[in-house]
Amino acid sequence: MANQLADEHIEMKQQTKDIKLYINGEFVDAASKHTFENISPYTNETINHVASGDNEDIKKAVQAARAAFKGEWGKLKVKDRLAYVYKIADLIDDHIDEIAPLESFDTGLPIAQTKKMVSRAAYNFRFYAEMVSTRMVGEAYQVDDEFLNYTIHKPVGIAGLITPWNAPFMLETWKIAPALATGNTVVLKPAEWSPLTANRLAEIIDKAGLPDGVFNVVHGYGETAGASLVAHPDVELISFTGETTTGSEILKNGADALKRFSMELGGKSPIIVFDDADFERALDACTWGIFSFNGERCTANSRLYVHEHIAEKFIDRLKQRINKIKVGDPLKADTQVGPLIHKNHYDNVKDYLEIAKAEGCEVISGNIPDGKGNYIAPTLILNATNQMRVVQEEIFGPVIAAMTFTDEQEVIELANDVRYGLAGYVWTQDIQRGHRVAQAIDSGMLWVNAQNVRDLRTPFGGSKHSGIGREGGHYAFEFYTETQIIHVALKDHHIPQFGK
Ligand code: NAD
Repeated sequence: MANQLADEHIEMKQQTKDIKLYINGEFVDAASKHTFENISPYTNETINHVASGDNEDIKKAVQAARAAFKGEWGKLKVKDRLAYVYKIADLIDDHIDEIAPLESFDTGLPIAQTKKMVSRAAYNFRFYAEMVSTRMVGEAYQVDDEFLNYTIHKPVGIAGLITPWNAPFMLETWKIAPALATGNTVVLKPAEWSPLTANRLAEIIDKAGLPDGVFNVVHGYGETAGASLVAHPDVELISFTGETTTGSEILKNGADALKRFSMELGGKSPIIVFDDADFERALDACTWGIFSFNGERCTANSRLYVHEHIAEKFIDRLKQRINKIKVGDPLKADTQVGPLIHKNHYDNVKDYLEIAKAEGCEVISGNIPDGKGNYIAPTLILNATNQMRVVQEEIFGPVIAAMTFTDEQEVIELANDVRYGLAGYVWTQDIQRGHRVAQAIDSGMLWVNAQNVRDLRTPFGGSKHSGIGREGGHYAFEFYTETQIIHVALKDHHIPQFGK
């Protein structure tokens, strides 16, 4: 199987050139001239070499972003600024069939899914252009006939954006779009395991003709390029998506500079299936929710709590699904699960399967294809209990731990008994119970009788160790803009006359 399809990968590899940094409107080598290897998740061979930025490159990018903010970009009329944002959306849409395979090639995410992600990426730009023109509004407060007080939104300055590898193109644009639409300039530090589409985005933004320095990309390691961006005194805000431990490190490193942070962190989200749920729909949603994006999804339903009355049947059906999921070449149209991003991550996920066995669980896995890819078969962990590591820790692979429950109060306590609080899913036909349980779960986002279907107007983010702050909709304006209040006296109100 792997050999038969290798040609497509060989062709893509031949087309994939080495990658540079994008600073001040130019593609440049790292100041140190250092590079790192970008490895294919499908073959574990080197795809290309990527310029490895560090403190020197971050300094140059920030300097360019500062000049652009103070210069042409900062002076543009809003409609002219948003015209660039719409242009980026159009260019992404024009290139979906080229960007999606590149993303799949680089990350191992199945192409049917990356096509949707790239299309959503275009929509992120369009959506924020519309939001800024229609919803970036201030408030006015009248105080009798004495004062009119009103708020305005101003861009903050330079946005430092640090992103993960699990849905790179989509997640980068989820930050870049509101940052640019609200008038900031950007320095992006993409994840080192998934640099290809970030570079493609730089080419697109370059083609859209944005003034030099408005958008910059510095590839490199977290500890060097990422940490330098966090520490730079001229970078006013950091929007970070990644692991909880990294988020905590970044908060510490940025504390001295009193930066504004948005933190989108890890998850271990529950799916709760009551015995009155629409069984087939709940099964579809549960299977998709853990195995889409190769299980490398922050909002994955990695903990299943199924009511004891239907548990045997539900788990049986889940086992059947696991065996039939199409695990294969990420570039093939019907692949549902591809190889994990990197050998190191594969090893971590493998370790968790051993931990599950050592903790006394039964581990049931589907099939994987031949070849050198980082394949982990879709896996169901049975006989798990809440205290186990495989239930408490984020595995971030195609692995779901299944548990049963008897009543509502019990399952609420079990669902909340983790440090994470990103998402949750409740399945029941009892509408009162649906609302009750949804509101009782400690998570930033909760879906009743649905898989993760996003409405971009609504807030996105997690509670507890899953995040700080909310992005999405107008909530992003609180982060990407400075809200200023202007107080205007309308007549001669009383002023205390000290020392008169
Ligand atoms: P990661 O934390 O290892 O890396 C994320 C980014 O941070 C990378 O660009 C990395 O280079 C950079 N980085 C690492 N150390 C840094 C440092 N000291 N200073 C500055 N930057 C640093 O995360 P990952 O493995 O790339 O992504 C997977 C994680 O992301 C999972 O935990 C997942 O749940 C989480 N995630 C969360 C959301 C969300 O919206 N809540 C969405 C997607 C992924």
